[in-house]
Amino acid sequence: MEATKVIEFERPQMEAGSSCVASAWARVPDVPSLAEKVGLKEKIKALLKQKNAVLVAHYYVDSDLQDLAEETGGCVSDSLEMARFGRDHAAKTLVVAGVKFMGETAKILSPEKTILMPDLDATCSLDLGCDPVEFSAFCDAHPDRTVVVYANTSAAVKARADWMVTSSVGLDIVAELHAQGKKILWAPDKHLGSYIQKQTGADMLLWQGSCLVHDEFKGVELEILKEQYPDAKVLVHPESPAAVVALADVVGSTSQLINAAINLEAPQFIVATDNGILHKMQMAAPGKTFIVAPTAGNSASCKSCAHCPWMAMNGLRNLLSVLETESNQIQVDPKVGSEAKIAIDRMLDFAASRKKQVQPSGALERNSALYSGIGPA
Ligand code: SF4
Repeated sequence: MEATKVIEFERPQMEAGSSCVASAWARVPDVPSLAEKVGLKEKIKALLKQKNAVLVAHYYVDSDLQDLAEETGGCVSDSLEMARFGRDHAAKTLVVAGVKFMGETAKILSPEKTILMPDLDATCSLDLGCDPVEFSAFCDAHPDRTVVVYANTSAAVKARADWMVTSSVGLDIVAELHAQGKKILWAPDKHLGSYIQKQTGADMLLWQGSCLVHDEFKGVELEILKEQYPDAKVLVHPESPAAVVALADVVGSTSQLINAAINLEAPQFIVATDNGILHKMQMAAPGKTFIVAPTAGNSASCKSCAHCPWMAMNGLRNLLSVLETESNQIQVDPKVGSEAKIAIDRMLDFAASRKKQVQPSGALERNSALYSGIGPA
């Protein structure tokens, strides 16, 4: 029987203007033996074909699932590209290897398709920390603000929003809204919101949620690590705290960080995002060395240790099981889904129209030639 682990995360209390520690849980999957993996992969490949299904995986899931997605004509990407790929693919069934909000987004964009997930209990501390009822009350209290929510939210929270954004396009969308004179209500990630606020100068009221993984990266320890690796470039996801972002050479979404790893002339990279991304970075930039940014002080113990416990719930065994049984189907209330779709479609239309202009930010922004290939995904 699989073990579970209890996870503590920061839960905002917006009325009190503070946060409390809440707990959730995640299953800890058994890792199959090498021999078992080979058999599981063969069965999964056959079933994907037989059922006209495609595997859509996030960069943070197990490397076996990432490889399978690529080998079978699926996709491995960030949540923006996962949403687009799933929507545009002809397959009748999408198997989403990631966390629940990704499955919900796929269902909202493709209500006619069957959306399966290896484990429906795979969630996200940002989603858990943004209760739809509390969030709706927060929006009601600030009716003069345009509501922009991050992808890592429930369908009900997206339905209350004017815009949904991912980390690839959030900055550009807020910059555009700011240029139009709009004031923003942002949820749920406080670090990403604060980063976008600083970059754009927009008037933003921030929900105080955080990502369990990125919130643990530490600025002081990162400075020490930089001294040990003076030639290394630092790649940081903007869900990280400001002290970590301040040390970055490149700040960007997962796809943007992978592109930076490919394009920058550096032998080593210190990476402040979920360590699941290193698989793709190592494949895309062989010969370069990738080091995970420090998550805790010498004497402290980390909650996530740079790997999302809910992303880790996606494995070969439960992937095969859902394909065999077609259990674990994602359902979204059609009314909620159609309201949420308005906010998602706005982002997808914006990203399509700005494809060539979306850039990473950070100290290397000035060298735009490095980023000519980077789009919103
Ligand atoms: S890595 Fe963070 S933001 Fe991503 S799913 Fe896990 S808890 Fe949520």
